[in-house]
Amino acid sequence: MSDAVTKFRPPVTVLSGFLGAGKTTLLRHLLAQAEGRKWAVVVNDVAAINVDAQLVAGAGAARVVELGNGCVCCSVKDSLAETVAELAAGGAYEHILIETTGVAEPRGVADLFLRKNAFWRSLGDFAQLSALVTVIDARSFLDEQRRSRRAVAMDMETEERRKRGEKGEREGFPGGRKPVFELMVDQAECADVLVLNKCDLASEAELAEVAGVLRALNPRAELLRVERGQVASEWLLGRVRFDGVETVGAARWIRVIKGEEKSGGGGAAGRMAITARPAVAPHPRHEADYGITSFVWEARRALVREKFFAWLDSGLPEGLLRAKGFFWLADQPEDMGFLSVAGGRARAEFVGTWVAALRKSGVIAEAEISGAARAKWAEPHGDRRQELVFIGTGLDAEKLRETLEACLA
Ligand SMILES: [Zn+2]
Repeated sequence: MSDAVTKFRPPVTVLSGFLGAGKTTLLRHLLAQAEGRKWAVVVNDVAAINVDAQLVAGAGAARVVELGNGCVCCSVKDSLAETVAELAAGGAYEHILIETTGVAEPRGVADLFLRKNAFWRSLGDFAQLSALVTVIDARSFLDEQRRSRRAVAMDMETEERRKRGEKGEREGFPGGRKPVFELMVDQAECADVLVLNKCDLASEAELAEVAGVLRALNPRAELLRVERGQVASEWLLGRVRFDGVETVGAARWIRVIKGEEKSGGGGAAGRMAITARPAVAPHPRHEADYGITSFVWEARRALVREKFFAWLDSGLPEGLLRAKGFFWLADQPEDMGFLSVAGGRARAEFVGTWVAALRKSGVIAEAEISGAARAKWAEPHGDRRQELVFIGTGLDAEKLRETLEACLA
């Protein structure tokens, strides 16, 4: 074991949240409670001029590092790793706080701590990820969700069309850039703490609704209601909440697809499980009454592209909050399709090649089929399947199954 692994690894708290959620205000509030403790802050901004860093400087941090010109979850990922490793290696700071850009995905930052690089090191060797904290502006979350319901389900992005053109794919594919609400959902799904901020600007009914939605998306995270970013630093920074398996797999859709959350099943084309209600909090609140249900639709027949995309365009059921999972198209049988629906917007992409196709073309040998693919294997189509999780309120599972089966080839 190397020295870096055994010596003090300062805890790192990552603040995420969409633009305007109140991350900087929360950060300043935390720093005001530093009381002489040595906390270092890394502030990320996609722009060259880092306004947030200027706001944070002098708010109580022992050191402020600005990371501009890119986003720490993707384009300047390496710079973040280097910065945090450097801050940690000096041993001068008791805690490191990272404020990400509004469009950053916490999963990408968590990756830095978990994934080993070419030298078999990860950021986790230098610093300890303490918590992924997502700040949510209650009102704008609801507004964005409502807007996404009204929006046309298909996002036709020119860039995606261009990419598909290069790959010789077809028109009529609901791909494109991630819509705002889906990004907000992603940020909420990969989090240890959800800070529902600006609660003074929303009604009790609205707060209960957002809380219900957040519970539906991420049943594991601790949910805190606050006003003007006022969080007690002891509560937020005082203990480690992040877990490499639990946090990363906290999203309800992941729990459902892994079979960690389901009951019942059956159905001609596969299992159609109706899961239990979300775990009831120690103090039952309104969110438990929203009747969140989740279903897995699984089938071992290919989908007809036109029918499936028409269904995504106009057949998404009322009350659907989230859908995610794999799909298999009859006219593109090699490629593994991945669907993501947040609110009323569907986004589909191809994320790889079905293992069965790789096996058939001789790219991999029988012995190289991964355990994950093997677990889903069924002859004659191998791992090719429809496996979609639907999460929502008042969903009619039977109707959902029937309409989807009508799209099968
Ligand atoms: Zn990013």
